[in-house]
Amino acid sequence: MHERTRHLEPQVPGPLVVAAAVLDSLDAPRSLLCAARAYPVEHAGQYELPGGKVEPGEAPLSALARELDEELSMGVRIGPEVEPPAPLAVPAPRDGAASGDTAPAWPVLHGFRMRVWMTEPAGTGGRPRPGGSHEQVRWVPLDSVLDLPWLPADRPILEAVLSRA
Ligand code: C5P
Repeated sequence: MHERTRHLEPQVPGPLVVAAAVLDSLDAPRSLLCAARAYPVEHAGQYELPGGKVEPGEAPLSALARELDEELSMGVRIGPEVEPPAPLAVPAPRDGAASGDTAPAWPVLHGFRMRVWMTEPAGTGGRPRPGGSHEQVRWVPLDSVLDLPWLPADRPILEAVLSRA
C-alpha cells in the first residue's frame, strides 16, 4: 500500500470509497468535475465526486485511478499532479449505524483534491464522457457546486474542498 494511504481504513461498517475532487487548476480553481449517477434508481440524478469502492486487496490510489478511468472514459494518469492524499473529511455514520445497527452505513469516503492529467482519446473532444454508472459528468463552477443534489457522503468532502479553493 502507498505510504501516504496506510491510514485509509474503514471507521464504520460500510465500503471504503475513494473520491476525486478534480479541479480545473490547483492554483486558482474555478470548476470542479461533478458526476450525476445513473443508478441505482434511488440515486439516479444525484451527484457524486468521481470515484468508487476500493476492491479487496486494492490500494486506494489504484482504485481511484481505475474508477476515474472507468467513469470518465478518458485516459487518466494520477501522477505528480496529485496533492498529498490526506483525507479531507470522513462523514459520520448515518443515524442508527453508531448504535449497533449493522445495516449498510454510508460509505466511508476519502476525498483527494487533485488535478487529473487527462490525455485525449480519439473522438472525445477532450471532454470527460460518462461511463455506464453516470448520466453525465461535467465541470461545474465552484460557486454553484453546492446547489447540486449531492449524495450525503460527498458533502463534507465538498465543503472541505471549497473552503480550500
Ligand atoms: O461507484 P461505486 O458503485 O463503486 O460506489 C460504491 C458506493 O459508494 C455507492 O453506493 C455510491 O453511491 C457511493 N459513493 C458515494 N460517493 C462517491 C462515490 C461513491 O457516496 N463519491
